[in-house]
Amino acid sequence: MNTALLNNKVGIPRAISYYNNYPFYYGFFKSLGIEVVLSDKTTTKIINEGCKYVVSDTCLPVKVFAGHVVNLLDKGCNVIFVPSIQSTGYKINNCSKIRGLPEIIRNVINREFKMIEPTLDKTENINFKSFCNQIANAFEIKDSNRIKKAMADGWKAYDAFCEMAQSGVPYQEALKNAIDGKLVKKSVDIVKPLSVVIMAHGYNLFDERISMNIIKKLEKMDVKVYTSLNVSRDAAISSIHSLGEIQYWANELELTGTAAYYLLNNKVDGIIALSAFGCGPDSLMVDEMMYHCKEKGMPLIHLTIDEHTGEAGFVTRLEAFVDMLMRKKRSILNKNSGKIKKQSAEVVKIKTDKILTGSAK
Ligand code: SF4
Repeated sequence: MNTALLNNKVGIPRAISYYNNYPFYYGFFKSLGIEVVLSDKTTTKIINEGCKYVVSDTCLPVKVFAGHVVNLLDKGCNVIFVPSIQSTGYKINNCSKIRGLPEIIRNVINREFKMIEPTLDKTENINFKSFCNQIANAFEIKDSNRIKKAMADGWKAYDAFCEMAQSGVPYQEALKNAIDGKLVKKSVDIVKPLSVVIMAHGYNLFDERISMNIIKKLEKMDVKVYTSLNVSRDAAISSIHSLGEIQYWANELELTGTAAYYLLNNKVDGIIALSAFGCGPDSLMVDEMMYHCKEKGMPLIHLTIDEHTGEAGFVTRLEAFVDMLMRKKRSILNKNSGKIKKQSAEVVKIKTDKILTGSAK
């Protein structure tokens, strides 16, 4: 280990696991007295930088991750957090790229830096406590009580984030509040003419550059947007099982679990699947949901993104989908209002008949 590089600072790339776990990481490192340096928000320059290092057929999120590592190095941060999250439950696996992320980064970025690369692999009994111990040990912190306290602080920030996000507080706001140690919940759910759920990895959806700000674009079209943040872990798991499926992928709750929850509760007018071009796990999960949506008559659109995706074409597909949902909803409402009119006409007719025969009471 090159201890000369350790200066009680850690760089966290604003990519991949950052989008799911940052409140925990922040609370944990802060409690250990380690300063967190974040890479900048994703820009075209960061994406292009990542693309220079990673082979072209790798998915966009990994290229973006490499770009964020370079961004941190350019900022002078030479200790970078690159976890290897193999499995998050027994045989609940991540894709090979997330599992081998430290290896990819080590082999493609030929600059001097130290990686903090803990492994989480619940299939192999490497649990979350061990994951946290590996991080602390890399900074030569061995005191188990100190590590335990840091874990508790991490969970506190993470739980607050989840509680706020689940109540409907937007992602960035919930994240900022959790980091600031605040708990602000949303009590009123705004009703809009249409609602959709987006099934996507957090790192694709909440990175505004990668997702091309899809949430804000839909909100401008007067569409209410639900995401995995609005669904509890238990509800997502039981929804997958209710569709007769099993969870295999670590990130499946963000995709199949979330979409299944809204499909089964009939809570939305449509489902948007947003995934990176060439992603194996996503193509399986989206296909699975397409099958269930077809069975239940729920519209689903699959939007794929890569570094070449143009915003104009992306917006056109989104607008076309929203238009189609609106037409479908109007025709259902018209049909139903026709039924209601017909029903009330029948009630009047029955009452009139009874009055004429003298039996009405
Ligand atoms: S799950 Fe898909 S998008 Fe995510 S890192 Fe793996 S291959 Fe890339």
